[in-house]
Amino acid sequence: MNFQKLIKEFKKKGYKLTPQRRLILEILSKEKHISAEEIFERIKQSQPNVSFGTVYRNLNILLELGLINQLDFKDGRTRFELNKSHHHHLICLDCGVAFEIQVCPFNSEIFRAADSQDFSIENHSFEIYGYCRNCKYNKTKKLDGKEEQQS
Ligand SMILES: [Zn+2]
Ligand SMILES: [Zn+2]
Ligand SMILES: [Zn+2]
Repeated sequence: MNFQKLIKEFKKKGYKLTPQRRLILEILSKEKHISAEEIFERIKQSQPNVSFGTVYRNLNILLELGLINQLDFKDGRTRFELNKSHHHHLICLDCGVAFEIQVCPFNSEIFRAADSQDFSIENHSFEIYGYCRNCKYNKTKKLDGKEEQQS
């Protein structure tokens, strides 16, 4: 990540790239799709006096600046990732693993529909839920096992 450029970005919008904000961006550049709680745990390792509230506020500022995205994988946790290349997710309902897909279903039809409502689009999300290869395999194995016991 180019921190010199980031510092300028922050300044333009009237914010500072504080050590904690920088650390959040560093954490998210290493690990994708992690929750606010997980980010808080990582930060506590180097800043033991940090409060969850401060981390959460900083996440919101990074969101506002468009540097990170907020994700909902329907597991009751708000997750975050760096706002780099636009992508969507395949999410496993069993183990929660998320695969990134470089396909976007957003098209001009949606733009026109929004336009007809005089609605200006800021963002969109599109997540696909299902079962990953491992979980799918474990499921069929369990089912097979049951059948064997019954017969
Ligand atoms: Zn899975
Ligand atoms: Zn992602
Ligand atoms: Zn998209």
